[in-house]
Amino acid sequence: MPNIITGAATSTGRIRDVNEDAHFLGTSLFLVADGMGGHQAGARASRLVVEHLAGLAHSAPATSAIVEAICAANAAIVADAEGHVDRAGMGTTLVGLCLTELAGSPHWIAFNVGDSRLYRFEGDLLQQVSVDHSEVQELVEAGEITSEQAASHPLRNVITRSLGIEPCPAVDTWMLPLSGPETFLLCSDGLTNELSDPEISLVVRESSSPQAAADQLVALADSAGGRDNATAIIIQIEERTAHATDLAPEPTLPHPLSRSQ
Ligand code: CA
Repeated sequence: MPNIITGAATSTGRIRDVNEDAHFLGTSLFLVADGMGGHQAGARASRLVVEHLAGLAHSAPATSAIVEAICAANAAIVADAEGHVDRAGMGTTLVGLCLTELAGSPHWIAFNVGDSRLYRFEGDLLQQVSVDHSEVQELVEAGEITSEQAASHPLRNVITRSLGIEPCPAVDTWMLPLSGPETFLLCSDGLTNELSDPEISLVVRESSSPQAAADQLVALADSAGGRDNATAIIIQIEERTAHATDLAPEPTLPHPLSRSQ
């Protein structure tokens, strides 16, 4: 198995009273969830999904097991909201990365619902692996605005998919072969709304450790405005374990509870 070094940091920011982000930093499972909803319900929603998914740690799950766990977490949030009037409408994003085995070789499974993000660094190259489920991403894909315009667009915080709102939203998944030394970043939008990709890349490149990088990213998001909760997990893989292979998106298998797109 590869040698993996990690770090994580989170901040409430300078405007909000409560940190509604939740994260999980295991040895082979990493999660960031960004909750939404009044009366601290968002913090409950994000914590619920992280607690459900943390049960997958150490199990080398298949993609289907991860999707099933996400659907179970979704159902738990829906049931919790239905039982408490002050939690109505609570929801959360989820982005995660899980080390597993495929045909005897280590692979990452990445998964995403909402606009929290997974980035991959290979050398100095920064690549967003996850695709935001957001109004502005749909406008980018329709060719109506550019990625640069999306970063400051008034609709940039409107997400089109989340957990806790409907019976079971579709989960995007990717299978990533381990391709040697590389670094991943999982983060909430409180980070990416304050810092540009080049700023993020510079911090990760120049930090002395994953923990130092996570700490500095969150501190910079605060000093840039801190308008939202910000969370960052850095996962650094140190040794080459397999031949480099291109990033291979894996089509999401239909899940019995998934709605069609
Ligand atoms: Ca947020």
